[in-house]
Formats: sequence, C-alpha cells, structure tokens
Amino acid sequence: MSRNALFIDGAWRSATDPDRHSVMGAATGETLYLVPEATPREIDQAVDAARGALDGWRSTSAQIRSELLLSMREGVLERLEEIAEIWATEAGMPISAGRAATGGLPVSALESFAEIARTFEYEQSLGHSRMLYEPRGVAVAITPWNYPFSQVVIKAATAMAAGCTVVAKPSELAPGCAYVFAEITADAGVPDGVFNLLSGSGASVGESLVAHTGTDVVSFTGSTATGVQILRTAAPQLKPCTLELGGKSPLLILPNAPLLAAVSGGMASCFRNNGQTCTALTRFIVPRRLMSEVTDIARDYADSSVVGNPLDEATTIGPLVSASQWERVQSYIRSGIEAGASLVTGGLGHPEGLDAGYYVKPTVFTDVEQDSRIAREEIFGPVLSIIPYDSQEEAIRLANDSDYGLAASVWGSDQDEALSVGRQLVAGTISVNGGAFNPAAPYGGLRRSGMGHELGEAGFREFLEVKVLNV
Ligand code: NDP
Repeated sequence: MSRNALFIDGAWRSATDPDRHSVMGAATGETLYLVPEATPREIDQAVDAARGALDGWRSTSAQIRSELLLSMREGVLERLEEIAEIWATEAGMPISAGRAATGGLPVSALESFAEIARTFEYEQSLGHSRMLYEPRGVAVAITPWNYPFSQVVIKAATAMAAGCTVVAKPSELAPGCAYVFAEITADAGVPDGVFNLLSGSGASVGESLVAHTGTDVVSFTGSTATGVQILRTAAPQLKPCTLELGGKSPLLILPNAPLLAAVSGGMASCFRNNGQTCTALTRFIVPRRLMSEVTDIARDYADSSVVGNPLDEATTIGPLVSASQWERVQSYIRSGIEAGASLVTGGLGHPEGLDAGYYVKPTVFTDVEQDSRIAREEIFGPVLSIIPYDSQEEAIRLANDSDYGLAASVWGSDQDEALSVGRQLVAGTISVNGGAFNPAAPYGGLRRSGMGHELGEAGFREFLEVKVLNV
C-alpha cells in the first residue's frame, strides 16, 4: 500500500510534499511511516476529480450504487483483520474489540445505505407538488483518529449512496485505515473520482476543503472546538454541515437498578477504545446510599482491566493515540485530585511496566463535585467520575447539567420508570436498561454535541437537497 501518495481520481498520485507527517505507534511512540501534506494544487485536483465524477455518479442508477456499496462491504470483511491491526497500532484500540467494531458499524452502514439508496423515493408527491430529492454535490468528509475506519466509511457510504462524490481527509494521527478504504473503493469498482483521499493537517487541508467553492456539503466528526471553526469557515457559502462532536454522557442509576449489569455496562462504555469514544458514559449519577456498592463494582472492573499492547488478544485497554492526548488526560486526572474528588483507583503516570507508549491507568473518581472539570469536560481517556444524588429530580438535573447532549443511559428495575426518566434526559441517543445502539436509527448530538444526523434515513437526507415542482 502506498502511503506517501494521495488517492485522486481513482489513482494513487505521488505527493508534492510526501513525508510531512509522522504517524506514530500508540504503543511505542515511534514513527511507523510518513504521510503527505496535500498542497493547494492537490486539493484543487481532488475537488476537480470529485466534481468531474459528479454528473456520472448522480445519474448512475440507485441499484448500481447500492451494488457497489455491497461490494465495498465484501472488501471490508476481507480486510477486517488488517484494518483492526492498523487501528490497534496507530490509535491503540485493543485488537479483539477493534475486530468486532470493524465488522460491526462499518459493515452494517454499508448494508443499510445500500438498502436506503435502492428503496428511497427520490421523487415524492405532495398534493399538486412533486418533490425531487437530489444529491447535494461534492461532499467533504473530515474524520478523527478515535474510530478512524468507521467514521470514514459511514460518511463516504452515506454520501455515495445519495449520489454525492467525496473528498475525505482523515486525522493525520491515524490515517492508515482510510488508505485501506480508498483501496476497497477502487477494488469494488467505484468509478474514478467518486471517492478521493487527501492527507494533511486539519488547519490547512481540512480548512481548505471546507472553504473550497467546489465543495457543497461537509460531514465532520471531532472536537466541538473544531466543529465550531468548520461552521464558521462554511458560513460565507451557507454550506450545509453535519457535525458529530464531543460528549460527557451520563449513566443514571435509579435506586432499584440491577447494579452489576448497570455498572458493568457503564464501565464497558466508559473504557471503550481506552476511553477515546465520543459516546462514552463518563459520569455515573448514583443514589447516595448506593455509592459504596457502585464504587466497589467500578473499582473491580477497572482493576481487572488488562492494560497492555493493543495487539494482544487479552488486552482490554490499550494506549492513547498520542503524547498530547496522554498529557491531556494526565492533566484531567491531576485536576480531579486537586479538586478534592476521591481517587478510587488509577491515577497519575504510566501503569507499571508500560513506560513506552501512551498508556494511562484506568481511573475511577468518586464523590465528584458537579462543577469540577472532570465532571464537565470531555477527557477522552479511561477516567470515570461518580456523582451522588439524593432525589430523582436532582439526578435528572445533574444528568442534564452539561454543555453536551450526545448520549445517556438510565437503569432501573421498573421499565416504565426508567423509560420515563429516559424521556427527560437531554441527549441524542439514550439507552434504557441496556438497550443496544441501533445503527438504522438517526444518530446525532444535542447542544454542543453536534448538528444534524448520521446513519439511517436521517443521515442519508443530509446529503440530499429537495426541490419542489408545483404542477
Ligand atoms: P480535532 O477535532 O481537532 O480533529 C478532528 C479532525 O478535524 C481531524 O481530521 C483534524 O485534522 C481535523 N481538523 C482540525 N482542525 C480543522 C479545521 N480548522 N478545519 C477542518 N478540519 C480540521 O480533534 P483532536 O484530534 O484535536 O482531539 C482533541 C479532542 O477532541 C479530544 O481529546 C476529544 O476530546 C475530542 N475529540 C472528539 C471526537 C469525537 O468523536 N467526538 C473525536 C476526536 C477528538 P488533523 O488532526 O489531522 O490536523
């Protein structure tokens, strides 16, 4: 695989500035390989290729677009092991979890958008009007490092299903999975120019793609700060943006909840992908009288986590993606200690024997003050805050007292009560008594967690615009 090139118009092109960014191994902190910084000329070439392919692609039948998505799905399944290995090596995702995640959402998204592309009614009637749903045009897909394969696949699959062409820009910290996806599109027979891949920094390549007059719609996943910047850049052209941003998601435990299931499920979410997950349940809101029981279960879970090389099958928590993420998580742990929260387990520094790479100790804080930074800000590491409450009203207030609104979870023995509390939570996706994520449902954040949706028909429509013919 060529990684010192850019994928433009169906071919790997040698880059003008090939060796600009070092991709580091999360477990070693050593350079794995180098990737290019796309130049302004190469950005234009990628956008031109996507524009050039647009008319052909949007007039390709939905049936053929759908078949190509299913061929890509086969390509993903064939290369699943390789993708999971790259993810583990570059971003630290434990291989066994990465394998399952690669075979999960990306595969189901390709299936689901193959189906939606085929069955969606692109022309609908309303009284005397005909409503025409048409592809928006050239889509920009800017993706982060934490789920470096799923994010690029979901965005590209949705856009391509809708008849848009794509220029993707993965995070320079973990671009390898996106390179594999570019190869999968070519092997599947996706026409030249329909999917293009540029590497380079967000501040230059990402920003230029958003600002480019040749691009029509932006789909972004990453931090809230960058999402806001993207919105600013897109504003002069009123370019539609879908933003999937950060979170600080609560797990609300009702007094009669099955504690082991609730806390274990919450811990799995909090520590998933080493805590580098936007929907991670990082705040447990717990009845005061159950604090010590919940804390014990959380401590046992953290202490029995296997922290180590992400390529080892037994590992459940790998290293963070980068030195700066490691520093950032350390600073949060320090701030929790300084704010007077009780450190139950974990804490500052590397876990014993894991001095190379960006390993963090799985950390649990209890008796956390609601206004402290560890209770309010997205940490993006395996760090949990447990917060006590005295009444259901207070619990709901604490859960909703956040700048974010991405995900939430509620557990109680009475399904109706849990559902009623779930309805009162402010979040885009709420799990009631362990209800599983539904990849066919719209996914998106409220408040500073985002704008618009991914997945399902709602995600598909983000790449379409509607025209009305009144006859
Ligand atoms: P960013 O939001 O900066 O990066 C996400 C993507 O956006 C990357 O591809 C990045 O490029 C690109 N980008 C950066 N600046 C711009 C810009 N001005 N215009 C267009 N694209 C841009 O996340 P970070 O890597 O800095 O992570 C910081 C924090 O963000 C994390 O600790 C976490 O809290 C949060 N985060 C949340 C994610 C989520 O899924 N909700 C995902 C990732 C991070 P590049 O990095 O290559 O320069």
